[in-house]
Amino acid sequence: MASITENGIDLRAGSKRAARSILVTGGAGFLGSHLCDLLLKQGHEVISLDNYFTGSVTNLGDAFESARFRAIEHDIILPIPEELPRFDEIYNLACPASPVHYQLDPLKTALTSAGGVWNVMARARRDNARIFHASTSEVYGDPTVHPQPESYHGNVNPIGPRACYDEGKRFAETILSDFTRSTGLPVRIARIFNTYGPRMHPEDGRVVSNFIVQALLGRDLTIYGSGRQTRSFCFMDDLIAGFDALMHAPGATAEPVNLGNPHEITVVELAEMVLDMVGGRSRILRLPLPVDDPQRRRPDISRAKNILGWKPRVPLEEGLAATIRYFDRRLAEEQTRPRK
Ligand code: NAD
Ligand code: UDP
Repeated sequence: MASITENGIDLRAGSKRAARSILVTGGAGFLGSHLCDLLLKQGHEVISLDNYFTGSVTNLGDAFESARFRAIEHDIILPIPEELPRFDEIYNLACPASPVHYQLDPLKTALTSAGGVWNVMARARRDNARIFHASTSEVYGDPTVHPQPESYHGNVNPIGPRACYDEGKRFAETILSDFTRSTGLPVRIARIFNTYGPRMHPEDGRVVSNFIVQALLGRDLTIYGSGRQTRSFCFMDDLIAGFDALMHAPGATAEPVNLGNPHEITVVELAEMVLDMVGGRSRILRLPLPVDDPQRRRPDISRAKNILGWKPRVPLEEGLAATIRYFDRRLAEEQTRPRK
């Protein structure tokens, strides 16, 4: 029988894997909503829990087409509602990811990482569920090892303005590792490197969405610091395929796995690419570099390649083109919407 695949993912829920009951925390966010769409396509029952701090119901337009989907407004720092059905799997994505947003209420961010994971673990224990946790390349801080393998323990300032996120995510990895050792329940930890794509919020504040929105609106592109700092940008389709591989690959364990695209560029190069692709009259506006902003970042993805057979496929130019089309459409819709 021919396989039914999309982006290398098998969509036949009933063939290799039975339909499952799945909780996605942060399901209304950029990544969470794409994950919900994939899980629904695979035939599963999906519930999103989200407090809509940075996510939105608009992101769930496709998911709501399915009778197997429910979205519930809930803050993950509170226990997962008792009345919800038993879950086979819990994907924990709830946490603001943009520095601008996670620094707005740093204590809440730290609590979301620590308390949120605590509540996920409690529920997984009750349901005998498998946990997937969205960790981050920020656990490496401003890295002194380049590129970053999972064995690198990082260089994080524990008292700086990014620490609420970085240390929160590090603590989450700690308690999840203790949890799996003490209960034997399966845990998967993805260390996600900078990922971009459609459904990022226009005011998300991260560099790809900022540059594209600024260029489309004819505003100057804001480069922080020299712009010589580097990042490695992964398109969301590739990342979501990586989530699926990590959750189910036979060789995967609770050891963290880097998921990202190793193609590294400077912030200035990114600005030039966006300007070339969008056109228009925007120029460069220099602003101060935020405190503790990492100077270099690139994933070593050997572990993902070896254990999951996963690697990103979408080149930056192609992913940026899709993201530019998305923001172009979204900004046009917002301009034509009548003001209340
Ligand atoms: P996002 O901000 O679009 O999504 C986060 C979602 O979590 C939003 O819908 C938000 O409303 C929700 N949320 C936040 N706090 C919550 C709380 N206390 N209770 C319930 N819901 C809450 O960000 P994203 O890029 O989709 O990131 C998703 C996850 O992936 C995050 O955990 C983030 O740390 C991680 N991550 C993302 C990237 C990336 O480049 N996109 C990189 C590293 C890690
Ligand atoms: N950045 C920038 N201009 C912006 C937003 C971000 O120059 O408008 C820089 C930021 O200082 C950092 C890089 O781009 O060096 C990536 O920032 P982002 O917030 O996207 O992600 P993170 O710092 O968490 O990797």
